[in-house]
Amino acid sequence: MSSTKIVLLGAPGAGKGTQAVLLSKNLGVPHISTGDMLRAAVAAETPVGLEAKAVMDAGHLVSDQIVIGIAEERLTQDDAAQGFILDGFPRTLGQAEALDGLLDRIGSGIDCCLAITVDTEGIVERLLKRAELEGRADDNETTIRERMRVYGMETAPLLGYYAARSLVREVPGMGSVDEVSQAMVAALEAA
Ligand code: AMP
Repeated sequence: MSSTKIVLLGAPGAGKGTQAVLLSKNLGVPHISTGDMLRAAVAAETPVGLEAKAVMDAGHLVSDQIVIGIAEERLTQDDAAQGFILDGFPRTLGQAEALDGLLDRIGSGIDCCLAITVDTEGIVERLLKRAELEGRADDNETTIRERMRVYGMETAPLLGYYAARSLVREVPGMGSVDEVSQAMVAALEAA
């Protein structure tokens, strides 16, 4: 399997995080989640965390400036040199362009954009269940709907951005974790 610099795209609740962990183990490249990094910053009450908390709780996007900063810091670490699974970044065209700029400077570009496709009602159900299990402050119904809206407005256009370079591989995301995981590996092998 040759594609190791991977961007995962999918609506909130599509299973990106779960799949990213599995794929990261499979390929032996780090899983990089800006959501995880931001939650860690919130928990540690760093300046970034203090600024990001209310924005995240409302289901909005943290500013490109902050997110690009933390993503660049992580992507320039040694373990990301051979590849990575990006989960939740980029989420805006500005972030995608910044990522391309960074990769141009430090090596080669994205190999594949894996897009997990799901139906919206299935997602809302999934997110409400996860909210109960994990007690995530950004998973109440109002916030979920807001995150969907933001995804449609800001992040969904990235599919076109990567499709223009023939990098998108779509994977249906409504099966079991194993089924989706196998479909992702198959999509990468075909990429
Ligand atoms: P996630 O765990 O990826 O769903 O991210 C949780 C929350 O963190 C999002 O709803 C945003 O508020 C924020 N966040 C994570 N990644 C980004 C990003 N790339 N750009 C802007 N905000 C982000």
